[in-house]
Amino acid sequence: MILIAEARARARAPETLITQFRDHMAEHGLQVSGPASDSRIHYPGVTALLRLRGGEIDLRIEASSPDMLADAKNSVSGHLDAFAPGEALGIVWTGDGAITNPDARPHNFRAARVVGTRDVTPRMRRVTVRGEGLERFDAEHQHIKILIPEGSGEPVWPRVSPSGVALFDDCSLTRRTYTVRRLDLAAGELDIDFVLHGDASPGSRFALQAQPGDWLGLMGPGGGGIKAQGWTLVAGDETALPAIGRFLESMAPDACGLALIEVADAAEEQDLAHPPGFAIRWLHRDGAAYGAKLLAAVRAAEWESDAVSAWAACEHATAQAIREHWTQEDRLPRGRFRAVGYWRHGAGEAEEH
Ligand SMILES: Cc1cc2nc3c(=O)[nH]c(=O)nc-3n(C[C@H](O)[C@H](O)[C@H](O)COP(=O)(O)OP(=O)(O)OC[C@H]3O[C@@H](n4cnc5c(N)ncnc54)[C@H](O)[C@@H]3O)c2cc1C
Repeated sequence: MILIAEARARARAPETLITQFRDHMAEHGLQVSGPASDSRIHYPGVTALLRLRGGEIDLRIEASSPDMLADAKNSVSGHLDAFAPGEALGIVWTGDGAITNPDARPHNFRAARVVGTRDVTPRMRRVTVRGEGLERFDAEHQHIKILIPEGSGEPVWPRVSPSGVALFDDCSLTRRTYTVRRLDLAAGELDIDFVLHGDASPGSRFALQAQPGDWLGLMGPGGGGIKAQGWTLVAGDETALPAIGRFLESMAPDACGLALIEVADAAEEQDLAHPPGFAIRWLHRDGAAYGAKLLAAVRAAEWESDAVSAWAACEHATAQAIREHWTQEDRLPRGRFRAVGYWRHGAGEAEEH
């Protein structure tokens, strides 16, 4: 079954806009073909076509499922909007999945309520939420946006616009990025492990104050997880522990590699199920600067000769330094390693995912 949606975008510089869009998609590994005036962007299950027509862009998406169609509409409209700031592109999708109800929720939104909390370690709190339709988070992609309602009363959740993009106009919601640590579809429950770093920031405060019955919005899931091929080096701080935990649990029994994990102190170590050939080395910050011990350990790591992939997630500056180190070391081809900033010291949430 192929689902089709079509729309038109009015832009001041349509050809430049298409070029920016297709270059961005190519950078993210999507298959791009055709000239800018007749561009075709392809990834499994979706083809997006952007055609110059007069001063406008004809848009067409062909997708193999309603979810993929809705994801693609959101992605095409959201990226075109971002590359044309201050412009009203006037995108309204017609055809399959057209939004006709102004109160419709984004397809990737779910409302959930807290059912319980437990401290995994002194600085890591597991919050369990329950909701309907959580099976959409049972995916290879593990990252979600949590929508934290501010203030008391019933939250106002986002709506979806006819362009397929989520609208947060009337909502008092703070958005943060977290990882699905565990999903229990039979119980309709999902666990998120929050690093506790005080009550001044919304994510940490939510976990500190969470009570059964509290609302939490969930959107996603999104990509960027660990992709291992052969001997793998994994490095992260406590914000990456949920992703690393899931990764290690899901590995084949003969998988091998090394995980370097920096945490505040010895009390923050967790029991992680892992294949016997995968070593875990805990690094205790013990008052040192965030990321200093992780970076030193990554630089000193002895790679197995058949090392073929590496992944890191931690504070932004450390992630950048690790990326530079792996690039200079020239041991792995581009595309086989990835170092991602999960948070920024002294600032709000890191933007790269
Ligand atoms: C893909 C992805 C997955 C993530 N998964 C998880 C996860 O599963 N669990 C998790 O806990 N975090 C996770 N993070 C990190 C999390 O999004 C950030 O730590 C986020 O900043 C927390 O939001 P906040 O409202 O608590 O703090 P913000 O309001 O964003 O920041 C306020 C202040 O707190 C500081 N701060 C933020 N995070 C930390 C920290 N960890 N330690 C010390 N100071 C901090 C900031 O530097 C800033 O000064 C993930 C991030 C990404 C990008």
